[in-house]
Parts: sequence; structure tokens; C-alpha cells
Amino acid sequence: MEQESIYKNIAVIGTGASGGFVSILLSKNPYNKVTAFDTREPFSTLLPTGGGRCNITYDEDNIKDFVKNYPRGEKFLLSVFSKFDKNKTIQLFKELGINTYVQNDKRVFPTSNSAQETVKRLKKHLITQNFTLKKEKVLSLKKKNNKYTITTDKGNYIFDYVIISTGGNKSGYNLAQEMGHSISPLRPSLCSFNIREKYLYELTGVTLKDVKATIKLKNKKNITCTGDILFTHKSVTGPLIFKISSVSAYEDFDEKKTMEISLSITECTYEDIEKDIKSNSKKAVKNIFYNYAPKNFILKIMQINNINKDKQAAQLTKKEKEILINSLLNLKLHAEKRIKDSEIVTAGGIKLDEINSKTMESKINKGLYFTGEILDIDGFTGGFNLQNCWSTAYICSLNFN
Ligand SMILES: Cc1cc2nc3c(=O)[nH]c(=O)nc-3n(C[C@H](O)[C@H](O)[C@H](O)COP(=O)(O)OP(=O)(O)OC[C@H]3O[C@@H](n4cnc5c(N)ncnc54)[C@H](O)[C@@H]3O)c2cc1C
Repeated sequence: MEQESIYKNIAVIGTGASGGFVSILLSKNPYNKVTAFDTREPFSTLLPTGGGRCNITYDEDNIKDFVKNYPRGEKFLLSVFSKFDKNKTIQLFKELGINTYVQNDKRVFPTSNSAQETVKRLKKHLITQNFTLKKEKVLSLKKKNNKYTITTDKGNYIFDYVIISTGGNKSGYNLAQEMGHSISPLRPSLCSFNIREKYLYELTGVTLKDVKATIKLKNKKNITCTGDILFTHKSVTGPLIFKISSVSAYEDFDEKKTMEISLSITECTYEDIEKDIKSNSKKAVKNIFYNYAPKNFILKIMQINNINKDKQAAQLTKKEKEILINSLLNLKLHAEKRIKDSEIVTAGGIKLDEINSKTMESKINKGLYFTGEILDIDGFTGGFNLQNCWSTAYICSLNFN
């Protein structure tokens, strides 16, 4: 009986990125008894990340710049990252046997380039005497006399401490609500869009690179983002669209009331392009415009505007010139719908003013903690969402050292 009291009896609900990570860190201390609940294998949510390569984090040293990549959670994470940032993450991954490298675009990947290998290595650290995995779904959470009772599909368990790491899953938000927490409205983020301009779907596989997009949000100034856009047979997608979907996560739009996105495909000015056309008057128009955008895109713009694709620059009418130049500088897309189930993360979650950013402990219930995506935190693509998981998990683990 006396011996029991020296152990910290901790439950972790969910063994995805943050729940799995906090379990590893907690299990290192022989005085912690860690029981994790998940019907899935630990870290299996990492398998599809980074296109199967697992984009662990992003190589930006300045924390103030790093947190700008989170439309929700920026201030909270400033405190979190001041204790455990991407450098400390990379170091800890190294200690766990996972070396990393930085790609040209600053995204950080394991040197194995394999999410599967990464998961395999992480899972090895869970094979300790003080870690138990229960392949059970948690159905409810109750607190009585400073003890937590977890009810699963298989039984009841009592713990002194509970960490909820259930990501964007509905059941985790229900557990938090049972414990008196409030949830910021949940919305899909990092998702693809249906657009009104269906002719662009015919450009399946075409990517427009380094495009500048401007969107006007309700009651807000214009927001500008840059990145690549990819056309598929039924949507627009790619890093720029993901960014737009993230900053506009709370915007309502549909077929009738679309969200307008203005694209600038080149950094050249109207005058630059006009000059180019003038000084190449004997050239085919398409050949001039191929310098500014992919061939298929230019041909499609010419086709839908009934401009002969073999026209010489000298024959271009004023109106046609305007159409072509504006398709490079101010192409309008009208987002009609977010594509169902295309989201990578959930915006919204446990309200951050109910959580202590220095400990991840609930301000409502002592001994209850939250890590990862269940919090009202979400970032752009690039490794930011996993960094939230690693850092909040690490900070949570410090309570049990
Ligand atoms: C296709 C895809 C690619 C991505 N690529 C990247 C990337 O490269 N880089 C990046 O930074 N982010 C990426 N993300 C986002 C990132 O994977 C998530 O933000 C991250 O996994 C969230 O971690 P988490 O621990 O909060 O939740 P999760 O990893 O989602 O884990 C939650 C776990 O809780 C379990 N669970 C839920 N409810 C219960 C319950 N009631 N009882 C028991 N268990 C429960 C689930 O089974 C799950 O295993 C990607 C996401 C997707 C979908």
C-alpha cells in the first residue's frame, strides 16, 4: 500500500503524435505508471504525414517568426516554445534515435525519409515496464475526490492524473466538455476547395508556382498569402490553398455566396508585360506568355476567352491584351465549398484561456492535462502542427519528472 503511493498513476487518452510522445517521456521516469488508451497502434496517425515522410518541424530559429505560422494559438505557443522549441525537438529526436535533415524549403524530415521508420523507432521507446497500452476506446471521464474514473468500452479505471491527447476526434472534445471545458467552434483547416471556375479543373496536374493570393475576410482587411496552387480534376489544392483555407477557416461561403480569391501569378507589373508584348510584336502571343505561366494554363485562358492560340502579338486587340495580362495579375477564383474530408487539421478546440501554457494543466481541474491538436491551436503546413504536438507533450511531461 505504502509502495503504491510513491508512483504517479497517469492515464494518457490517445497515442497519436502528442499522446505517444508524452507517453515516451513519462515512461522514462520509473516512478510514473503510464496507462495509454487507444484502439489504434501508437503513432499510427504519423504514417500519412508529410506524404509518408513525416514533416517533423520547420527550420526557423526565431520563435516570434515561428509562431506567425499559427492562425490560432500564436500567443499561447510563444510561451510553450520558449521552453521547448524546434531546436530542442530536433535534439530530443536525435536522442530517441531519429536523425533529421532540413529540406530547401526549411521543412524538417527524418533522414530515413520514412514515416513508417520513424513510427517504428518511436514505438520502441514505449516498451518499458511502466507503460501499458489498453486498446480501448474511452467513453467517459469523471472526477470524484481528486481521482479520475475512465470508462472505456471494456471497463472502468481510476487514475490520479489524466492527459487528453485525442487530436481532432469528436470523442475527445466530449470528454473535455464532461470536465467542464469549453470548445471553440470546430472547423476544417488545411483543406481543398471547389471553385466556380470549373474550366480550371481541366488543368489537372498543373501547378502555378509562387503565386500571391489576396482574400478579403468578413470585417477584416485583405489577407495576402503566397505559395503554390495545384489543379485537380475537381478541386484546387496545394500549399497556397491550404494556407488560404487556414486563414479563412471561420469564413462562411457556398455556391451562392462565394469567397473571392485574387491571384497574382507573376511579380511583373502590367507595364512590364505590356512592354514585353510590344517589343515582341512578331512573336506568337502564347510564346510571350509562356514566360509568365505554365503552357497549359496560358492555352486554357486563351481558349475560354476565344483568343486564337496562334495569334501574333501585333494582332492582339486591346481587350484581349487586358484579359491575358489580368489573368496573370488578377485572376479571380470563387471558392464555393471546402472539399469534404480533405482537411489535414481541425481549427478550434479546447479554449486556451482554460489551460496553463506553462504546464498544459487545466485551470478547471487539477491533475487534468491536454496536449496537441485537441487544443484551440492549428498551423499552416510545413511541420507546424506536429511541432505543437511535440512541444505541448514535452511541457506536460515536465510535471511528472
Ligand atoms: C494526411 C495528413 C498529413 C499530415 N502531415 C503533417 C505533417 O507532415 N506535418 C505536420 O506538422 N502535421 C501534419 N499533419 C497534422 C498532424 O498529423 C496532426 O496535427 C497530429 O497528428 C495531431 O496529433 P495529436 O496527438 O493531437 O492527435 P492524433 O495524432 O490525431 O492522435 C489522436 C489519437 O487519439 C485516439 N483517440 C481519439 N479518441 C479516442 C478515445 N475516445 N479513446 C481512445 N483513443 C482515442 C485516436 O485513435 C488517435 O490515435 C497531417 C495530417 C494529416 C491528416
